[in-house]
Amino acid sequence: MPDYDVVVIGAGNGGLTAAAGLAKNGHKTLLLEKHNVPGGCATSFIRGRFEFEVALHQLSGLGFPEFPGPLRGVLNELGVADKIDFIQQKNLYRIVVPGEMDINLKAERAAAEEALIREFPAEKEGIKKFFDLLYAFCLEAVGVLFMNDPEASPEKYPLFFKLALKDTKGILDEYLKNRSLQNAVSIYWSYAGLPPSKLSFMEFAMTLWAYLEFKPWHIKGGSQAMSNAICDAFINFGGDVRFNCSAKKINVENGKIKSVITEYGDEISTKFVVSNAGPIPTLIDMIGAENCPADELKTLNARTIGLSAFTIYMGFDCNPADMGIDKATNFICSTSDADYAHKKMKTLDGAEFSLLTCYDVDDPDFSPPGACQASLVTLQYMEPWMRIPQAKYYDTKCRFAENLIDLAEKVFPDIRKHLEEVEPATPLTHMRYLGHPGGSIYGSEHFTRETSMFVQSKSTIQGLHFTGAWNGAGGFQPTLQSGASAARQISRLLKKQ
Ligand SMILES: Cc1cc2nc3c(=O)[nH]c(=O)nc-3n(C[C@H](O)[C@H](O)[C@H](O)COP(=O)(O)OP(=O)(O)OC[C@H]3O[C@@H](n4cnc5c(N)ncnc54)[C@H](O)[C@@H]3O)c2cc1C
Repeated sequence: MPDYDVVVIGAGNGGLTAAAGLAKNGHKTLLLEKHNVPGGCATSFIRGRFEFEVALHQLSGLGFPEFPGPLRGVLNELGVADKIDFIQQKNLYRIVVPGEMDINLKAERAAAEEALIREFPAEKEGIKKFFDLLYAFCLEAVGVLFMNDPEASPEKYPLFFKLALKDTKGILDEYLKNRSLQNAVSIYWSYAGLPPSKLSFMEFAMTLWAYLEFKPWHIKGGSQAMSNAICDAFINFGGDVRFNCSAKKINVENGKIKSVITEYGDEISTKFVVSNAGPIPTLIDMIGAENCPADELKTLNARTIGLSAFTIYMGFDCNPADMGIDKATNFICSTSDADYAHKKMKTLDGAEFSLLTCYDVDDPDFSPPGACQASLVTLQYMEPWMRIPQAKYYDTKCRFAENLIDLAEKVFPDIRKHLEEVEPATPLTHMRYLGHPGGSIYGSEHFTRETSMFVQSKSTIQGLHFTGAWNGAGGFQPTLQSGASAARQISRLLKKQ
């Protein structure tokens, strides 16, 4: 008898829902996490009197009890939805390009369309047609991707088959002429980590549609509260968890999983591993390339490592209104040229894109009374950060942070003077805490024709499954869903044995 039916490596979103789903189905499951708290990106940390949210800006796919989105389904299944206090965000986002545009889009289709038409009246028809297309496309995508319609065909789902793998920019060009308008509509490209010219319409459309239909949300107590709730459910279902305990090695025998060895040298026998640590550390460091199927390594080699983040966690000595912050989600860009903004993410020359999220706008109790917090984030590839000599790292980090605050101050001129706590995190910080190559927060990149739907969640090594951002799309909703799906697959296999 193996020690455990399944060992789950990593307690990020994907690892947590996989572990909880497996334990709920009665499988003896061990969860190993190298950090001292569950959540991966979905955690918080304390500085001074602030508990800072690490990653969650807007939770997608949740919906309402009476109109549940796919994510609520996953959380209901695990019995945790009722244990989490969700806060609905009223707006999708405010987007500002100083001197060029300043628009707020409410999280409601008609109101969002109206706001865009007010700003760009000449494009009224194009805006309406674009949203009609978006909705028609997404309804077909739901049939193909989520209902798994066995009769899916180009005849039945013409829009999906025609547009899913087209680039988003081409479709924006067809309907919307003004570049600022295109930017206002498509800024969620940043949630997928590739600009519209490189991002499939499927990935983009499903993101915008999911926020419009199921609304953006945050969580009382931050994403850490959700991670804790899922971890508690796992333990209550009978699962075992070890924190501060990395998986170091996975033993494979005759192409099948045999055991996992922890950093302390314990060998745990099992026939199934779910790895939330991503395929590169799992296959190369833990299993060893020499034990991996050549085809799988070839596929892995063809993937490129996605974006990480540069985030400034800021605690303020005042309320949001005192700094003129009245929307939770504020994209602040110095250009509407997404390709240029994306190119700059490969350099240390200052960001053209930023997102300032102030959690206290929708949840006034998020920070201590009379104070509030915001995270100011831009996206960055790891590459330039790796080249900084150690002695220059601190200065470079501070300079980059100052430049990013300069950009945000063009919209909120008082933020610097109200700063009480400040903690910048670079791609190296994200790599250190998550263990992912490049500190990637969205896994590998999914260019137009390599969308996340083509990523295999099951290795050719028998018993090895992947979950999390590297196993499909990044972001909270997809990663939480990916763990639930891995649990279902393995449960079926275990029940057959
Ligand atoms: C600053 C920032 C902002 C973001 N904003 C949003 C947002 O607003 N909305 C959204 O949807 N998404 C957002 N994201 C992205 C989202 O948080 C991630 O895509 C998602 O949380 C990744 O989940 P995951 O399942 O891949 O696990 P991860 O969070 O990557 O966690 C992996 C876990 O595995 C553990 N681990 C790794 N190796 C080992 C090992 N050998 N042994 C044991 N444990 C191991 C790590 O410690 C970690 O806990 C943001 C991310 C960041 C960092």
